[in-house]
Formats: sequence, C-alpha cells, structure tokens
Amino acid sequence: MKVLKIDHLGIAVNSIDEGRNFWSGILGLNFEGDETVAQQKVKTAFFPVGESEVELLESTEPDGPVAKFIEKKGEGIQHVAFRVANIEEALAELKLKGVRLIDETPRIGAGGAKIAFLHPKSTSGVLVELCERS
Ligand code: ZN
Repeated sequence: MKVLKIDHLGIAVNSIDEGRNFWSGILGLNFEGDETVAQQKVKTAFFPVGESEVELLESTEPDGPVAKFIEKKGEGIQHVAFRVANIEEALAELKLKGVRLIDETPRIGAGGAKIAFLHPKSTSGVLVELCERS
C-alpha cells in the first residue's frame, strides 16, 4: 500500500459554528462550508491547511460516534486520516497483516471520498481513517 500524506485531522467539537471562531476567525483558515453525513450522524466542515486539512466534526444525534467521543474524552482530536492511492488494496493488505479493521469495505464520507476506519487497538490507540479521493 502507498500512504500519500496526512489528508486531514478530525477534531470533535460541540459546535462547528463555535469552533470556527478559532480555526477560521483566529487562525485564518478558509471555511469552505459544511456537509452532513447522515449515515455517520455527523456534520463536518473542512479547512484546508497547505497539503492537508482540518476537519471539524459535530454530532447531529446524541447517540452518534462523535457525541460518544466527546462524552468520554471531551472535545479534541478524534481521528487522523491518511490519503492512500488505492483504499481497497490498502484494506486487503492491512487485513492480511492482522490489523483490526472497523470497516472491511470502504464507505462514502464527506466530499464523496472513499473512507475506512482502522481499530485503535491495532494503531497505538489512534483512530486511523484511510481515505481515497479521485
Ligand atoms: Zn475524517
């Protein structure tokens, strides 16, 4: 598999509108609008930073994964996403190497990217997202 770069950092926030005050208002990152991914019960907003992006994640449901994360750990970095050239190939290789996968097959995330999560038990405690964009 080929890991191309850190695609984005996923940061769980209580409110994207409030989060924007820092990321956009103070750091000056460009806010490019938000998008709701109903299947993951989340609203996301991307802020490009050079070759990578910051992704703010706000839960749309009290039982969503981002709401549960904030309940346990508070706001903060929730996942790190790596861009890969071919996500199906990467998942097959990781599975072969005994890495625990949350998603055995990719699903469609924000911006139409193909994404899949790896289990933190296999990654030093970090929720890792793989992401392929065309
Ligand atoms: Zn992400």
